[in-house]
Amino acid sequence: MQQTIDDALAYARGFIKEGKVATYIPELAKGNPDHVGVCLVTKKGETYHAGDWQQEFTMQSISKTMSLILALELVGYDKVFSKVGVEPTGDAFNSIVKLETKTLHPLNPMINAGAIATASCCVGGEDPFGRFLDLVRTLCGRDTITLNEAVYLSEKKAGMRNRAMAYLMQSENILECDAEEALDLYFKMCSVSIHTQDLANYAVILANDGCHPVTGERIVESWIVRIVKTLMVTCGMYDGSGEFAIKVGIPAKSGVGGGIVASVEGQMGIAAFCPGLDAKGNSIGAYRILEYLSRHLNLHYFAGTDKKVV
Ligand code: GLU
Repeated sequence: MQQTIDDALAYARGFIKEGKVATYIPELAKGNPDHVGVCLVTKKGETYHAGDWQQEFTMQSISKTMSLILALELVGYDKVFSKVGVEPTGDAFNSIVKLETKTLHPLNPMINAGAIATASCCVGGEDPFGRFLDLVRTLCGRDTITLNEAVYLSEKKAGMRNRAMAYLMQSENILECDAEEALDLYFKMCSVSIHTQDLANYAVILANDGCHPVTGERIVESWIVRIVKTLMVTCGMYDGSGEFAIKVGIPAKSGVGGGIVASVEGQMGIAAFCPGLDAKGNSIGAYRILEYLSRHLNLHYFAGTDKKVV
């Protein structure tokens, strides 16, 4: 296994020059495009890693899977999905177009508008971000996970497109709270700093029906895990989700910080990181690592018997 992971990293290194680090959030522009790392945690709790696996980065859109968990726990299925749909958009993650022209509700919780609506379901009670951070720490198995303050402030300052979507949704009474409150929580959720082992720990819990792989303790209810993994399949890789489903075939979620988290049903959690992105916002290095691992470990959800590579 370790050899395969090392090989996956070496394979991915051949592509990372094609990537461009996100700059629309100024603080993300400081990401080092040469960083590349991966961690894999099996259902038995065995952990493998390679490269810059301990390099911290911000979750960005990967947080959308966790804010969805929190919202479903807090307010339930009917409430959350009265605010946001479950259909892929075919548009960029930050697109506003269908909010106005197709349906006033964001199409799914994995795009920015949908995640802002989801975050609005988590506002309320004492310390919404503290509650979210507790969930992240539990899912990732590390108590020291915290906010990257510089990225949060940078995103809050630069996030005008998100602001536009939030106010549009507020004007249609879609948000559960004031637009600025939902945005502030959303920006913080995106700015939580993690590394690949944190995310692989989380992904193996998803792969294990919401239970900790070693202790067996239930961390997330099964029905919630099912919804999150399904949306990862259909919407997790932005408007590249269809191609990723064919080429890699693992429920996954990427973020513009350069991370991708992937959950191999009943088997393992994988997280890969490399800051350079493709035109759709997916990390090129992380994508290639997952592609390699899927092929060499036969991880595609419809692996079949024909080894023809597409
Ligand atoms: N915080 C980022 C934004 O709102 C998240 C985008 C992403 O990772 O897809 O634009």
